[in-house]
Amino acid sequence: MQKDVNLIQELVDLDKKHFIHPTSPIKQQQEQGAALIFTEGKGVYLYDVNGDCFIDAMSSLWNVNVGHGRKELGKAAMDQMNKLAFNSCFSTFSNEPAIRLSAKLAQIAPPGLSATFFTSGGSESNDTAYKLVRHYWILKGKPSKKKIISRTKSYHGVAMGATSATGLKPFRDFTNSLAPDFYHVDNFSSQALRELIEAEGSHTIAAFVAEPVQGAGGVHIAPENYFKEVREICNEFEILFITDEVITGFGRTGKYFGIEHYGVTPDVMCFAKGVSSGYLPLGGIILSEKIHQDLIELSTGTLLHGYTYSGHATACAVGLKNIEIIENENLIENARVMGQEMLTGFQWLQNNLGIVGDVRGLGLMGAIEIVKDQVTQERFESPLSPLIVVEAAKRGVICRAIVFDNQDTLVFAPPLIIDKTEIEKMMSILYDSILTIEKQQEKTK
Ligand code: PMP
Repeated sequence: MQKDVNLIQELVDLDKKHFIHPTSPIKQQQEQGAALIFTEGKGVYLYDVNGDCFIDAMSSLWNVNVGHGRKELGKAAMDQMNKLAFNSCFSTFSNEPAIRLSAKLAQIAPPGLSATFFTSGGSESNDTAYKLVRHYWILKGKPSKKKIISRTKSYHGVAMGATSATGLKPFRDFTNSLAPDFYHVDNFSSQALRELIEAEGSHTIAAFVAEPVQGAGGVHIAPENYFKEVREICNEFEILFITDEVITGFGRTGKYFGIEHYGVTPDVMCFAKGVSSGYLPLGGIILSEKIHQDLIELSTGTLLHGYTYSGHATACAVGLKNIEIIENENLIENARVMGQEMLTGFQWLQNNLGIVGDVRGLGLMGAIEIVKDQVTQERFESPLSPLIVVEAAKRGVICRAIVFDNQDTLVFAPPLIIDKTEIEKMMSILYDSILTIEKQQEKTK
């Protein structure tokens, strides 16, 4: 591609002046300009205005599951837009893509989950889940059941309920007023959950919410029995169990939904991201048939919760086509197999570099810890992972650094279409990038 220096400068200037970026260092944007301005995507690759090419080892925001540049999805959107782009789904109005997608979701979701409420993304899905479970308890004659319990390293989004449920402190501290009735327990201790329920009284608690694999918190994988114990505790105390599958849904972990690894079924499941691979904003929550039936039986009026875009015809048409691609191309199985390759690659990095500590992964969600001491896992005084991310980008891999809670962690979630050669290329670039920072570190000793 011919590089147009004037165009690039114009875009950088306009970006600084007018575009407030989500979850971005606002000062750095002014000082350095937008980090990368993308123009095209194809498969696992992204291209920017300079004509440089990058492996999108994060599927952008853990969401472009089927990879970039899928013409089928463009066509599905165009066909639907040309027919009927949008209609209201309030007042029981409906459309075929929303009907068919909700039916498809009932077919692929864990057993018993059968009815979907649509949103435009993960934060809206979480806020919807919290409101609907509270509404459910009102209808069930237990209005005191309203507290929502989540976990300390959790991320559930940035809407008011979602931020209040999020455990990661920096997101909570960003604002000075959060929603009431949100409580947090230690990450993987089912005993801590039990103790909190007993301390607060189960008659005050509506639901417990958890990500099957914590994503933004640094790809933390629950111990094998954790969710079984959580499910039992929720049953014992009549508390609804919500899984936030916004990242882990639609094949990311090598199963359709992350919770399937643990052999339990939630009462409510939040989803977004991979449902449309990011081609259009889409999300939702799936309710168990039992909750759905109770809502129908006990409701006396209108369900007073709804977004303009709940059941958006074009977004749902894209969602349907996206799921068809996932199934036709066996992408869930590919995520499982390539996930193993990625983990093997991480282990190779660990064996050949001095600053790679623990590595972990489930399907195509993975993490590498950066440490000063591979034996004790002691960390550096200031985290190195952000420097490695910069080195990796220079060489053509986009990944992410997590430094919350004194972590120094690189996280990865490549598109589910990735192949062995692309994983090997990713590992080779990571090796060079980590080695560069390791050597710099040695020099400063
Ligand atoms: N829940 C989880 C587990 C997430 O990872 C995210 C986004 N990273 C959200 C909710 C929020 O989704 P969105 O950004 O689409 O609002």
